[in-house]
Amino acid sequence: MPIVLERCGVDNVIGEFRCTGHGNSGHGCNSLLRILKSDLYVTVSYDRDGTFERYITFACPVCYAENDVDNFPDHLRWSLPTRVEHVKRQITAQK
Ligand SMILES: [Zn+2]
Repeated sequence: MPIVLERCGVDNVIGEFRCTGHGNSGHGCNSLLRILKSDLYVTVSYDRDGTFERYITFACPVCYAENDVDNFPDHLRWSLPTRVEHVKRQITAQK
């Protein structure tokens, strides 16, 4: 019988990323971070012509720089909160 090493759920590990400020400031602290799905949120950048692009982003807990995650699976993308929702959840979780 197969053994589940990591179950696909709310808190599954997405991977390990270095904080580089990728897609944002470009200035990170180079910390190596293990990112869970619950660490991610959606950011949107609007172009002048009215088009917009969605990015999957996490904030570094060390230097607070935002980093974009490339090649994030599309089917998981829609379940992620916006930045505002994400911050609200963190505040609620701390209470
Ligand atoms: Zn950092």
